[in-house]
Parts: sequence; C-alpha cells; structure tokens
Amino acid sequence: MHLVPAATLRNVVVILFASGACSSGPAPASRPVPAPPTATARGKASAAATPALPPIPSVDGQLQLRVVYPSANQTLAVRDSNFIFGSTGSGRATLSINGREVAVLPNGAFLAWLPVPAGDHPQYELKASKGSASLTAVVPVAVRALQVPLPDTGRLVVDRSSITPNERLTLRSDERVVVSIRAPGNADVVLRRGDGVALTLSHRVGDRWSAEVAARALSHGGALVIRRGDDSTIVNVATVRLAGRAHPQYAELLNVNDAARSDTDQVSILRPAPRGTYKWFVFPGTVVEVTGQRGDFLRVRLDLQLEVWVEERAVKLLGDQEPARRPVAGDAHVSVGDGFSDLRIPVTHRAAYLVEYPSPSVLRLTLYGVTSNVDVVNFATADPSIRDVTWEQVATDRARFTVLLRHESYGYLAFWDRGALVLRVRRPPAINADRPLAGRVIAVDPGHPPAGATGPTGLYEGDAVLDVANQLKPLLESRGATVVMTRVTRDAVPLNARPIIARRANADALVSIHLNALPDGANPLRTSGTGTYFFHHQAEALARAVQRGMVHQLQLRDLGIHYDNLAVARMTWAPAILCEGAFVIVPEQEAALRNPEFQRRYAMGIAEGLEEFFRGIAVERGRR
Ligand SMILES: [Zn+2]
Repeated sequence: MHLVPAATLRNVVVILFASGACSSGPAPASRPVPAPPTATARGKASAAATPALPPIPSVDGQLQLRVVYPSANQTLAVRDSNFIFGSTGSGRATLSINGREVAVLPNGAFLAWLPVPAGDHPQYELKASKGSASLTAVVPVAVRALQVPLPDTGRLVVDRSSITPNERLTLRSDERVVVSIRAPGNADVVLRRGDGVALTLSHRVGDRWSAEVAARALSHGGALVIRRGDDSTIVNVATVRLAGRAHPQYAELLNVNDAARSDTDQVSILRPAPRGTYKWFVFPGTVVEVTGQRGDFLRVRLDLQLEVWVEERAVKLLGDQEPARRPVAGDAHVSVGDGFSDLRIPVTHRAAYLVEYPSPSVLRLTLYGVTSNVDVVNFATADPSIRDVTWEQVATDRARFTVLLRHESYGYLAFWDRGALVLRVRRPPAINADRPLAGRVIAVDPGHPPAGATGPTGLYEGDAVLDVANQLKPLLESRGATVVMTRVTRDAVPLNARPIIARRANADALVSIHLNALPDGANPLRTSGTGTYFFHHQAEALARAVQRGMVHQLQLRDLGIHYDNLAVARMTWAPAILCEGAFVIVPEQEAALRNPEFQRRYAMGIAEGLEEFFRGIAVERGRR
C-alpha cells in the first residue's frame, strides 16, 4: 500500500480466546467461499501455463476473534458501507457480524462488506462459534457526525465552527474573500466590518450564508451579526493581512527533506494550491517573492504569470529588501560524459524550473523569472544524446529551452553547479536483445516500513514484499543483472532515502514492491487485483511491461497502470515504478502471499517485465 490513510491498517484491536474451546464437536456447516477474481481478457495470460491462486491452507486452531481493521474507536471515513477484516483462528468457525452471516475461509480469515453501524454507540458485534465453543467481541467505532439542521424556531442556533475565513490570511487588497457561516434560513446575517461598514449576506445555499468581499474589507477584522426577531448572536471573522506591493516580502526556499545529503537530492517542493500536489522540485536557495498566505502555506511568485504555494516551514523569510535583479541566462554549452550529456546554462541567480516531456524524445526546461540572453549554444561534434537545443522567451520573465534527443528520454538530473543550471540527460543503456538484463543495475525496493498494510491473518506488507524482493534478486542476477536492495532487513528505511539509494548506485531502473489496500468506502470484494504506478513518462513503458509480466504470472484482475505522484516514482535519473501485485487485505490473496511459490510468481512477473522493457530499448535502437 502506498497511500497514507488517516489510520493505518496495522492495528490489531481485539484478540479474544475462547476458554475451553477445542476443535472437537460437530463440523461447522461449510459455506462456499467466493472465488477470487482471475485474469481478464485484458491480460494476455494463458491460464493453462500459470495456475490461479494456490489453495488456502486449512487452519483449525483455538477459536479467537481478531479484528485487524477497523481499529477500536477509529473514525470511519464513510457512512454507508465499509469493510471489516480479521480472523477467527479456525476455518471451521462460523461468524456473524451485526447479525449478518460472514464467510470464514479455510485459514480462519474473513473479510466482510457491511453497512456502517449506526446509532449513538456505533459498533461491530462479532459472534463466532465452533462446535460447543462460542465467542463474542465488540469493536466500537466512530462515524463522522452528519450536519445537524439548524432549527428555524426556538432559540437562535448558528454553527460557529463553520465560519469562513477561519485561518491566517495574507492577500492582496483587491483579492476576493468568501465570508460565510451556517445559520438558519430565516435569520438575517450581517457582516459588520472593523471600520464600521455593514454588509448584508444575501446569498444562501441551504443554511450557508455567504458574501464575497475584497480582502481590504476585512483588513480591520469584523464580525458576523446573526439576528432573528429579538434573538441575536455575534461571531468574529478572521482579520486579513494585506500584502502590499509597497512592501514586498522575500523568502529563500529551503530543503526540508532530512533524508537528503547531497545537493542534487535536495529540493524544495512547490504546489499549485495550498496542501495541493507536489509539482515543482526546485533548488534550495532559490529566492522568491512572498505574495500571500493561507494557513500554514505561503504563496510565492515564480514569475509575473505564476504564483505557487509552499509550506511556511520550508522557507526562510528575508524581509522586504529586494534581494537581486532578475536572473539572466547566458550562452549555453552541451558536453558529452560517460553515459550522459550535459546542457549547461549559466544563470546569474538560482531560478525555479520545471522539466517536462512534450514528446518521447524531447525534454522541455522552463526557467521562471528568467530572462534568456543566449547568443551561442556550443555542441559536441558527436553527441549520442542531444541533437539540438532551442530556446524562446515565452514571457517577459520566463525562458524555455527545448532539448531534442536522439533517443527516447530515459532519465535526467537537474542540478545547480557553480553558477549554472545543468540538465544532465541520461543515455539509454546498450542492450543485448538476447540477454536484456546482462550488465544492468536494478534497484529493488521492498516497500515499508515505516507504515504499510496488514492482512486479515496479520501478514504485514513490509514482511511479504521483502520475501518477494529476496526471490526477485537471484532471478535478476541469474539473468546477468546487479541488484541493489534499498532494504534487506525488517528495519525501517525512510521513503525519501530509497530513490536516492537507487540514483547513487546509478541504477538503470527502480522497482518498488508493494501490496495494495483500499481506503474506507471502497469494496475490496469487487476491486482487487494487480496494478502498476509510474510518474514520469520515461517510466511508462516499464510500467506497462511489468504490469503485463505480473498479470501473466499472478492471474489476478488487471487493474492497469496509473500515473501517480509517488515519492519513489518521482526519481528522475532512471525509469521508476511502484508495483501493487496483489491485495494483502483480501483473504485469498493474503493467503497466497504467504506461499513461497506465489511470492516467486510475483517476482517472476517483475523479472519478465524488466526483461521485456530492456529488450524494447534494443529494438528501438535497432530501428534508428
Ligand atoms: Zn505499500
């Protein structure tokens, strides 16, 4: 699992052992267990070549009730239906949860999809029995409160916690701010500004009253006065600070990734919205203008047309002294190194940048806040990677360099070196099509710890994927590869350190091995199978090849490949993917994942995919 849910799936909550229970007594009525999904027509798998999931071993231990998910007093994210899973200790047990019969698998595991418990004290009541022994267990949960309708009669009640704005705000004077609150539909809601001006909130959807005002209207604070008949109440509105052009503020972007040690690993992360996705990874030390704040996020200006957001803790404020004139890019130089080519662009100051892939053999480098004054680009006579570089001034203070490659993009590294931005373009390795993995360096990353999912009978994702990785290593080595493991013990390795380990080993590919789980509200009885994740387009072909290999070997439902902004997949120097071969929370798949033969099939799927991917590079080269 690569998601970070509010509550991890590792909490084992209820463990009860039946006193006097034994395995004798009448055999429980055996119920057919739903068959696991098998490969669909999308996989080119031949069912005859690879068996489906191995049979679930029979376990007939002491009756117990062990609920892995949800944990006691957990707040469920949904209100309609959700999953609950764990084990009974015996495949001969019968189980009901909240009065509904639940299938128990031969190994004692269960996974049920049930209505979310309701009432003042929502809880799951489990009753298990085996022969003459029986057990009950209770897992209390919390359910997010529904909004209580505000009464139109009686005492005036408003939802004081619903007021907006409700966080620290610094905005330009004319920016719009929504002032709103939940109050009864038959009340009058008036914004009384700090400077005494009053404004009636006239827009209402349901019981939320709102009005849009300019930030300057709240620069002296204010209050909402809610009135109905003789009854009234007052709720204060946050004061908005004004970011004036008269007093611009500057900040230096910092690196807050403490796993990083060298300069190229250190990045500052910028986002398109507060708490939004990671989009720009720029050099620490880049100086930007601060133009606003929402809560713990600062808005910073990259150039005249683009403002982005950064965590407040990831900047050092420099005050209102304008630090420097605008960066200028000068004459560029292309040179050839061992396995790569460098585009070196002198820039007078560190600038924010973005690397994109407009097509498979083009890299586009955008420099924000930069004026380009490139007269000359100096090329190497024989460059196996970079064919040409063009540049344009796409806006007053935004420059763009287009790097035309002789091959499909394989990897790159952008770094700041002695007054220049260097875009290092990696050449695809030379591949022997008959032995595609010979000489390759493959980084194998067994996912977790920290975090990770746990299955119904307690199989921990981090342990299972280490077993798969240990099976993958000799498979790759026997095909001539060198394997770099990011983890060989059960000790935690920080997430951000993993791609760094791969890059320092100059790995030709990074494969991160995981097992999937689902967030609250998704039905694992319907949605489970094999999926692969990539982030950079240079990894898309690797993702498809490994997905095909895993679907072929594992015979689970083909869930396809996914673009996803994941830490390990963000590695730029080599194609990097994250595999979710199976679902550890689904009992049949969890049982299979304890089986060394099935672990080997997971590893074989990855090895087949890697081979297909590198063979494809040899074919591409042959076509040129
Ligand atoms: Zn994971």
